[in-house]
Amino acid sequence: MTVAILWFRRDLRLTDNPALQAALEHANELIPVYIHTPGEEAPWSPGAASNWWLHESLTALDSSLRQRGSNLIIARGKSQTVLKKLAITHASKEIFFNSLPEPIAIQRDNRVSKHLSKSGINCNIFNNSQLTDGPPIRRLDGGCYRLFTPFWRAVLKQGLSTRAPSPAPKKIPPPPKLIKSISLQSLGLLPEVQWYEHFKDYWEPGEQGALKQIQHFLDKSINSYAEGRDRPDLEETSRLSPHLHFGEIGPLQIINGIESRFETDPTSHADSSPGQYIRQLVWREFAQNLLIHFPDTDLHPFDPRFQNYPWRKGKRAEKLLQYWQQGKTGIPIVDAGMRELWQTGWMHNRVRMIVASFLTKNLGIHWLQGARWFWDTLVDADCANNSFGWQWCAGSGTDAAPYFRIFNPVRQSQRFDPQGEYIRRWLPELSLLPNKYLNAPWEADMSVLLNAEIRLGKTYPKPIVDLQLSRKEALQRWETIKNLSSKRYARK
Ligand code: FAD
Repeated sequence: MTVAILWFRRDLRLTDNPALQAALEHANELIPVYIHTPGEEAPWSPGAASNWWLHESLTALDSSLRQRGSNLIIARGKSQTVLKKLAITHASKEIFFNSLPEPIAIQRDNRVSKHLSKSGINCNIFNNSQLTDGPPIRRLDGGCYRLFTPFWRAVLKQGLSTRAPSPAPKKIPPPPKLIKSISLQSLGLLPEVQWYEHFKDYWEPGEQGALKQIQHFLDKSINSYAEGRDRPDLEETSRLSPHLHFGEIGPLQIINGIESRFETDPTSHADSSPGQYIRQLVWREFAQNLLIHFPDTDLHPFDPRFQNYPWRKGKRAEKLLQYWQQGKTGIPIVDAGMRELWQTGWMHNRVRMIVASFLTKNLGIHWLQGARWFWDTLVDADCANNSFGWQWCAGSGTDAAPYFRIFNPVRQSQRFDPQGEYIRRWLPELSLLPNKYLNAPWEADMSVLLNAEIRLGKTYPKPIVDLQLSRKEALQRWETIKNLSSKRYARK
């Protein structure tokens, strides 16, 4: 009897799972284990919304394993200690897992492999989180691309992976009978504050949920993605981000789904809707690459000038941050986005950019404060994408928009929510306001407000900052750092 251990992390699926495939080829007894180790992911241990998702996703994975004759073993403790104990107790010499594209996870996995190899236990590590085959995309001089467009071109040149994703196995041998699992409930993943109770109306965590979501997207929106992806009022994006983050679906499966629908390589027409969608998926890999190469950019600005940026601090900053978090800034598109986030654990990309620009530029609050709030409330919270997105919006990132291009939230909502449907959905208290004033209720006459049953400052807040003035102040703050050296300190 050969026993193998399959270590599940953020690859919570049975389809297109090379570690599972290899473990099944190697062994006739398999121990599928999930180890709860939030401390090993610090300072970005999963936030509350992610923990809700994880709880549901582990339940779904256990159920899929049971349908095939196995079940998920849940453990808690230091990864290397749990794995070593399992291996020794069950005379297993082989552990299988898929790598995670994050510096902290890579370091941890190297430590674990080294430690276990001293006891004669072999770690077999697989990688299928990329769209391309072969080594990660690098510049010709071996460096990491800092700008997206050349990175995208390099992906196009290399070509997308042509491997077919492996199907989910029909049967999986059960783990040894004596093996003990702790209960999922005992991990205490479900947050104490039950704000997440509506999440189930919007999401189905787990592999089946991911497969339904990609089918829905391919049936409904892939052809209109290029025109629709910036419209928060329409459901035109794939909403696969939490499924991708937890590895309930892999990028290969997505490409394969698109290719079989169109019977062509979607990147051969990079401007087509499917091509634009793949381009967006490549942003994810670009962000992962950057974080691996510059591992401190989850906490520190990529542009060193921002070390000296005069961020707003103190009691007033705390109060403004709270208004922003609660969706009570008095700027409708910002409040609609923050309420969508609270209600669903997700926010449309265009609105993420608007609320992030408003927090960092109009309110002058450090991007990390926003990144931390997103981290706790997003079901797709992802270290690379979140840090990259925040730094991009704050102007401190690589490939960031020029600082002086400050989003005007009123114009943004006029352009991307033209009928005000998104604002009305999340701010019902403004629903009677005519479209003309919906983006800026403070510009409406008293009679218009009365007709719409709105009392500014009572039923809906007055703006917490003047948009024009705060824009000017942001540009003044920029003047204090713009001539400092922008050369990245101690860079590879
Ligand atoms: P689609 O438009 O359908 O795109 C498909 C996939 O491509 C996404 O699921 C995602 O994996 C990837 N993708 C799309 N846009 C981006 C992007 N700009 N950067 C990196 N990857 C992208 N994304 C996260 O997954 N987790 C985060 O924590 C996160 N935080 C963000 C914070 C800020 C301030 C900003 C501006 C963006 C952030 N993003 C984050 C990126 C983006 O907003 C989401 O990936 C996207 O909204 C997810 O919705 P979707 O799956 O419908 O996207």
